Amino acid sequence: MDPNVKAILDKAKATAVIAAERAGKMADAATKKAGDMASITKLNLQIFELNSDIDGVYKEIGQIVYQAHIGNEGRTVELDDKFAQVDERMAKIAEVKETIAHTKTTVECPGCGRECSKEDAFCSKCGHKLA
Ligand SMILES: [Zn+2]
Repeated sequence: MDPNVKAILDKAKATAVIAAERAGKMADAATKKAGDMASITKLNLQIFELNSDIDGVYKEIGQIVYQAHIGNEGRTVELDDKFAQVDERMAKIAEVKETIAHTKTTVECPGCGRECSKEDAFCSKCGHKLA
């Protein structure tokens, strides 16, 4: 493999591990403020838009990696910024998904898998105790 490209991929791997840890912490914080939430449709749209943003940044990263591959290293410094842009949106997506999970009004029965109301203490189909 091209040494320039390998260096970039190693860097990307290291950044991804940090991003995953950070996203986990942010999701914890999001759980606490899940009280004031918009509709699930709006939240899903937000995730869609964030993913579109990420696709755009991935494309830019691809171009930078290709530039490095053909020996033009001038743009590689921009990668940190691009990775940060992806990390930021990944963390936001984790946060929004967490909010959606807490917005759901149904809970899956651990006994039979039926979607029961969060208000119910027991499953209406199999009688299993709901958490
Ligand atoms: Zn059940």
